[in-house]
Amino acid sequence: MHDATTQLQANLEAIRARIDVACRGAGRDPVDVRLLPVSKTVDEARLRAAHAIGMREFGENKVQEALAKSEAMADLPDLRWVLIGHLQTNKAKHAARFASEFQALDSLRVAQALDTQLQRHGRALDVLVQVNTSGEASKFGLAPDDVPAFIRELPAFSSLRVRGLMTLALFSEEATRVRPCFVRLRTLRDRLRQDAPDGIAMDELSMGMSGDFELAIAEGATTVRVGTALFGNRDTPDSAYWPGLAGAGDAGAA
Ligand SMILES: *Cc1c(COP(=O)(O)O)cnc(C)c1O
Repeated sequence: MHDATTQLQANLEAIRARIDVACRGAGRDPVDVRLLPVSKTVDEARLRAAHAIGMREFGENKVQEALAKSEAMADLPDLRWVLIGHLQTNKAKHAARFASEFQALDSLRVAQALDTQLQRHGRALDVLVQVNTSGEASKFGLAPDDVPAFIRELPAFSSLRVRGLMTLALFSEEATRVRPCFVRLRTLRDRLRQDAPDGIAMDELSMGMSGDFELAIAEGATTVRVGTALFGNRDTPDSAYWPGLAGAGDAGAA
């Protein structure tokens, strides 16, 4: 096997082992936790290697980058592209063409734009609502208190298949500061489940990244989004992908 593929395989096995341990510790079945590989900045050759060892979906932060990769790899029709970053309304038309899932819905304007474009293409999109559980002004996502009313509007957008919630926790090395973000998302999901409108599912909890996914699993994550632990460090600073997070991002920054 090619060196890069061997490394990727080793990283994947190490992450799966960590997921297994976290699940065992939480009394959960590892099949209930989806590992979403986050492939921003990762080039096509390495994505093809990832596909060759069995990865079938990639999480991308920016629409243009994701669209370019999806077109370059259109010969692999079994790939699912998952958008995990903030989407501007005027980019909805691009997203609607190729994305299978969008995890960062936080405005009705974007919901409307996506729905209109999806209908033009005869497509549907799995959607998670992004929640700001850290209270940081720089983070995207709805305030937890605004989510119930927001969810009630979503059945109007028939191309959006609402599956649950997503969050980015506080960037901190301290579990005591990170964990409450995950608890907040789970508590909100559990509350919403009780009176979710028809057609709105509240099963998914997308939370946890390379630095904190064990904690997220302990608190009920059904999807963990893992980039650097799988593909290695990125050259591009995270602030380029999380506009508004000035100075945040590089592992552990406050
Ligand atoms: C980049 C990114 C991740 C993955 O982060 P890592 O720390 O590299 O695992 C997860 N979620 C979102 C929204 C991202 O942009």
